[in-house]
Amino acid sequence: MKVTPVPCYADNYAYLVESADGTCRVVVDASEGPPVLTALDGGGGTLTAILATHHHGDHVDGNRDLLARFPGTPVYGHASDRGRIPGQTEYLEDGATFSLGPLTIRALHVPGHTTGALTYVVTEGAEPAAAFTGDTLFAAGCGRLFEGTPADMTRSLGKLAALPPETRVYCGHEYTESNLRFAAHAEPSNAAVEAKVAEAAALRAEGRPTVPSTIGSELATNPFFRTGEPELRNTFGIPAGADAAEALRVVREAKNTF
Ligand SMILES: [Zn+2]
Repeated sequence: MKVTPVPCYADNYAYLVESADGTCRVVVDASEGPPVLTALDGGGGTLTAILATHHHGDHVDGNRDLLARFPGTPVYGHASDRGRIPGQTEYLEDGATFSLGPLTIRALHVPGHTTGALTYVVTEGAEPAAAFTGDTLFAAGCGRLFEGTPADMTRSLGKLAALPPETRVYCGHEYTESNLRFAAHAEPSNAAVEAKVAEAAALRAEGRPTVPSTIGSELATNPFFRTGEPELRNTFGIPAGADAAEALRVVREAKNTF
């Protein structure tokens, strides 16, 4: 499987996912039409399916352009996003698993950022999976809670934390450097964060995306996966006895104003 990030708008990523034999070509989050169509034209001009992680415009605005060029392409999203994703034809529930050519796709329902947020876990053969997390999990961050509670997001991040550590994480925005600044504030003595700050700065200096991360890297660096850590709790004044959802609420609110 080959995954190509397609920069869209100011800091969005759409993704072109192609099977190793090139027969299956899937777009995850068609943020806007022109750059995604250019990416599709580059490799033979076919499209197998569109996967939408959630209904926000900066993740689905390009659907109409893609469907105008490739009429009849199936568009996948969560069942609860019916009426909110342009062109949606497939209405997925948590755990839905389906094949597109050689690719196997499992949809995880991860509410919090939006009610119908999905993460798509894509595999081909024995290679590590690629998880397309939309605005639920970012490198070193998580999405804002527009339609869900801290408890929702805690459960959703728990599902992602349970994926194999080598799972590659492709998120919806290039927010990594600012997220890492917050992570370093949260845990000043976390050496993994410090290393990742340097790595991200080097990539961005060359104009390259910081994606993919991995679940293992996120578990080591992402404050929203690390709300139980004593140093983080000390930074934000979270009592040792506070539960995971309460801790996430405090960290999310701190990030909102950081
Ligand atoms: Zn969003």
